[in-house]
Amino acid sequence: MLKAIQILGSSSSSSSGCFFLHHRLKKPRSSFSLISRKPIEASIPESSKLHNLAFRFRKGCSFRAFQMPNTNSESTPDGDSLSSSSLTSTAAVQTTGFTKKVSFCQWCGGPTKHEIPDGEEKPRAICTKCGKIFYENPKMVVGCLIEHENKILLCKRNIQPSYGLWTLPAGYLEIGESAAEGATRETWEEANADVEVQSPFAQLDIPLIGQTYVIFLAKLKRPDFSPGPESSECQLFAAEDIPFDSLAFSSMLVTLKLYLEDIKVGRPKFHYGIINKRPGTSPSDIRAYTLDHHMKC
Ligand SMILES: [Zn+2]
Repeated sequence: MLKAIQILGSSSSSSSGCFFLHHRLKKPRSSFSLISRKPIEASIPESSKLHNLAFRFRKGCSFRAFQMPNTNSESTPDGDSLSSSSLTSTAAVQTTGFTKKVSFCQWCGGPTKHEIPDGEEKPRAICTKCGKIFYENPKMVVGCLIEHENKILLCKRNIQPSYGLWTLPAGYLEIGESAAEGATRETWEEANADVEVQSPFAQLDIPLIGQTYVIFLAKLKRPDFSPGPESSECQLFAAEDIPFDSLAFSSMLVTLKLYLEDIKVGRPKFHYGIINKRPGTSPSDIRAYTLDHHMKC
């Protein structure tokens, strides 16, 4: 669950084509990458259940979602990342725009200093007691765009943020599962729908809040679905009936628009794009975005 900073919008400034991202690959660092920030959903009352259900992914194959406290992984799409979160009882985390300011070590509770470690370029929180460095990395949100009899399955959120608004079933990928498995699991959790992933449909990066969405096209294995605990309704919508005025997140708006554009002229393609919030717009306006570097194939 999410809320917060939604980046949203409506304009799509790009077109298919190629672009090259200039970036450097860095060697994996120690195993201390930061742990999850609890998405904005952090402020939401959540059940204390652990994700310990087994889900079938493919016939003859099953996997078990990792058992992790909800603090780390609830379904939460592009909400905010500027929310506070607590990594441990001793870790005080404050957000500072793109990154959080970590005041205390999550491992030993010692105070941190913020400096650029040797050989690096960005300031990091470094524990003054144990010396560990706190790295914060983007999170992946996975979900399914389920096509059934020329309709799309949407879920109405029964949790904050974006309570009462519609979304594709999606949520944070868990440790121990693939993106497709995570999308399948989230669909089961939010819509009690057993689906088979067909193909990847979109990867949408949202750098502002440190999230990447990976959405798969999927089919219902059985024509059964019903609201899970995080949903108040699940419903199939024909293209003309999709509630665009009541969508929860910009990522969902972009995904659905791209899909409808594709099927209008043929088959769905694969899309990559960067959702950037338009400067000066409200964080809660899901249409205040631009879709940059859009590529499709
Ligand atoms: Zn420490």
